Amino acid sequence: MSNQNEIWNNVIDKLTAQVPSSSLNAWFSRVYLEKISNDVAVINCADTFARDWVEGKYKPLIKTALQDVTGKSVKLAFIVGGQAFGKDVNPMLPVSNSPLFNSYTKAVVDKAVQSNLNNRYTFETFIVGQSNRLAHAAAEAVAARLGSAYNPLFIYGGVGLGKTHLMQSIGNRVMQQDPDKKVYYCASETFLNEMVEAIRGGKTSQFREKYRQLDLLVIDDIQFVSNWQETQNEIFHTFNELYLANKQIVFASDRHPSEIPNLMERLRSRFEGGMVADISEPTFETRVAILKKKSEQMVIHLPDEVLVTIAQYVESNIRELEGALNKIYNQKTVMGTIPSPTEVQEMLKKDLEVKRKKVSPALIIKEVAREFNVSTTQLKGTSRSAQISIPRQVAMYIIREDLQYKLEDVAKILNRKDHTTVLSAVKKVSLIVQKDSAVRDRMERVRRLVKRGMAG
Ligand code: ADP
Ligand code: MG
Repeated sequence: MSNQNEIWNNVIDKLTAQVPSSSLNAWFSRVYLEKISNDVAVINCADTFARDWVEGKYKPLIKTALQDVTGKSVKLAFIVGGQAFGKDVNPMLPVSNSPLFNSYTKAVVDKAVQSNLNNRYTFETFIVGQSNRLAHAAAEAVAARLGSAYNPLFIYGGVGLGKTHLMQSIGNRVMQQDPDKKVYYCASETFLNEMVEAIRGGKTSQFREKYRQLDLLVIDDIQFVSNWQETQNEIFHTFNELYLANKQIVFASDRHPSEIPNLMERLRSRFEGGMVADISEPTFETRVAILKKKSEQMVIHLPDEVLVTIAQYVESNIRELEGALNKIYNQKTVMGTIPSPTEVQEMLKKDLEVKRKKVSPALIIKEVAREFNVSTTQLKGTSRSAQISIPRQVAMYIIREDLQYKLEDVAKILNRKDHTTVLSAVKKVSLIVQKDSAVRDRMERVRRLVKRGMAG
């Protein structure tokens, strides 16, 4: 079967059995097979929404279906806005305009697939503000002077604040400048999986070779290695080899190296040995700037009032800002109108309420327990040791402040006698966090996680 339309029609036929027809109609009408070679299938999506949705949800199904139809195992590359969609293409972050994909020759697509980079994430689309200025400057310096500016570069910060975007920008910039550079991006989990796979298959030397010949290695979400001793060892040795050869390493984590639990001392000191840069939550001004730029990229014109309203309601996280814009974009596509500022406000308020309801005190207690390395039973128990009473007070504080529970209810949830215990816990925590930045950081991390729960 050589004709790609025919192949794609067969793939869709197969999917019909597995995907609800509403999804098929909504998404697959905007997605088609651009090109298929021996080992790569390029799937072209009308816009980033279709791409995110289809790639996020149906990638394994498509892969299997393609394999069934062609008899070959292929890698998938998702791109946005190729020729066939003509003027209807939503040019938000147009992948097809990036130098990498101007003409996606086999070699270029192969390289992109190999490097594991998403070419949506570039410096050109990254908006700089106070909260990410340092990390951004460091990332640009690293991309310009690989191996000699800061090595390693360690970026840390909360969820949805742009760490992945920034570190992938480095990779994409490096490959634009010099397509011969060997770049690889992976999550720490992928590194672990590949390692385990290699050990199982007796291919550890190939595994090492793959990593140690790189010019730029980017490992995301490195905080997870705290659970994996063997992986820490391997990363340590990989790091040393690359470092000694002046090759660049970039890490990202949700926290500072000094706060990653169970991290080998020698790995921690490597992480801290170059540049450690944090990204914090965007200020109001930056949120407005981001919304402006993103709405321009989506070619929807939104009055400043609407942007300001979104920026007021969505405070913590850039992914959620995008989510709000997407909602408005969808309304415009479906109904042909842009909601008024009041309607936007109502929509966001409702979202917020729904999210609040989803977050239970149980989730907070669970996250506090995990963060402070105690058990939930201990939190609800009678021990008065500081090791347990501080996290217990923190849990009460968050439930009270962020979920706005009544004092009596908080007391009941944590098995305390009466509401005065909660009152004094709240007071105490406000004092502790002023003095003890370690407790403050831990608490903020739980609150961020909980907020993410609200977003999810
Ligand atoms: P993290 O890795 O820190 O959880 P991501 O890099 O995945 O966050 O960012 C979440 C979303 O927000 C992505 O779609 C990303 O493109 C976008 N984003 C984050 N920071 C910025 C920024 N400064 N400018 C533009 N988009 C951003
Ligand atoms: Mg990330």
